[in-house]
Amino acid sequence: MQDCLFCKIVKKEIPADIVYENERVLVFKDINPIAPVHLLVIPKKHISTLTDMDKEDTLLMGQVQLTAARLAVEMGFAEGGFRLVNNCGRGAGQLVMHIHYHLLAGRPLSWPPG
Ligand code: AMP
Ligand code: ZN
Repeated sequence: MQDCLFCKIVKKEIPADIVYENERVLVFKDINPIAPVHLLVIPKKHISTLTDMDKEDTLLMGQVQLTAARLAVEMGFAEGGFRLVNNCGRGAGQLVMHIHYHLLAGRPLSWPPG
């Protein structure tokens, strides 16, 4: 989608520190990390928010989650625990309207989140 920051990262129009990529999923480092590990895991397809997901996106979003879990294992931080977070909507702190999961690890993660 035009004027979407993450679509521009997908199209390599804006640089990002890409950690993993396949046909459908992209993972890159958050530019403003809040934990020692702070990755953004996104579908390449533009979906604005979780509530904009269609039934046909179910497999894709499963692949997004599986990618996050596999990376956590492969990068060695799964054992210490990690958090996969989606902020849905402005009220929950979603600033970029291209669906994404924050993959956080590397420090104690308190609960409940703020
Ligand atoms: P959210 O507030 O859930 O929409 O998260 C958006 C995230 O995108 C924030 O954690 C930002 O630090 C991050 N972000 C914004 N611009 C970029 C960028 N150009 N490259 C990487 N991460 C970004
Ligand atoms: Zn987009």
